[in-house]
Amino acid sequence: MDKCIFCMIANGEIPTNKVYEDDRVIAFYDLEPQAPVHVLIVPKKHYESILAVPAEESCVVGHMFQVASKLAHELGIAEKGFRLVINTGKEGGQSVPHLHLHMTGGREHGWPAG
Ligand code: 5GP
Ligand code: ZN
Repeated sequence: MDKCIFCMIANGEIPTNKVYEDDRVIAFYDLEPQAPVHVLIVPKKHYESILAVPAEESCVVGHMFQVASKLAHELGIAEKGFRLVINTGKEGGQSVPHLHLHMTGGREHGWPAG
């Protein structure tokens, strides 16, 4: 999609601090980290949010979580714990309209989330 910041990162138009990439997803460090480790796991295909993923393509969502699990080990946060979040829509706090999974770790997380 034109001028979508995460599509531009995914197709290499904008350089980023990448931690993982395969044919379906890219993962990179958040520009404004909210924790010592803050990675975004992003499908290369543009979906405006989780609501836009058709049932027949939902395996990409499982893959995003699988990549998060692998990265949690690699980035050293698996043992102590971490949080996975998909903000959705205005009240969900989504600011970039391209589906992404936040992974934050390296500090205590409160609950309920703000
Ligand atoms: P949301 O608020 O939509 O759940 O999350 C969007 C996230 O993307 C925010 O945490 C924000 O800091 C991050 N972000 C926005 N633009 C960029 C960018 O150009 N590069 C990177 N690495 N992160 C970005
Ligand atoms: Zn996009």
